[in-house]
Amino acid sequence: MAIRKIREIGDSVLTKTAKEVTGMSLRTKLLIDDMLDTMYEANGVGLAAPQVGILKRIVVIDVTGEDPYVLINPRIVETSGEQTGNEGCLSVPGKTGIVTRPNYVKVVALDADMKPFELEGTELLARAICHECEHLDGHLYVEKVEGELMNLEDLEDLEDEE
Ligand code: ZN
Repeated sequence: MAIRKIREIGDSVLTKTAKEVTGMSLRTKLLIDDMLDTMYEANGVGLAAPQVGILKRIVVIDVTGEDPYVLINPRIVETSGEQTGNEGCLSVPGKTGIVTRPNYVKVVALDADMKPFELEGTELLARAICHECEHLDGHLYVEKVEGELMNLEDLEDLEDEE
């Protein structure tokens, strides 16, 4: 297991479409382990393979800090409702912005054993699923931000003043 370098906005790998995973290999298993380590090390709630420079359709998500999901070839099949809130991305360090997402998402994917499963999420989990799946198609949340992209530091100062 190892921490991989997180690619940042401006890196062309983040704008490319990732390829479907057709079979599990030792290399891909190691990638998934490293993605989990890298996500936890960076205190993120999700990470997509392109963020560590690998154009494979793999995302890891953990919104609770103890219950990681590995989604291979994820496909969102149902959404409903709406939530508007702050979002951030490990590839856009120090920034945050307001994005509207569905409040409920159902996704079908393969797990780390290449077995199909279905995952339903609401609120933060739904937001994370949408955000990470977009990475696989070369999109960043900054394209969807309503208003200005803000500096996290400024936001924290603002909260201190309240
Ligand atoms: Zn992201």
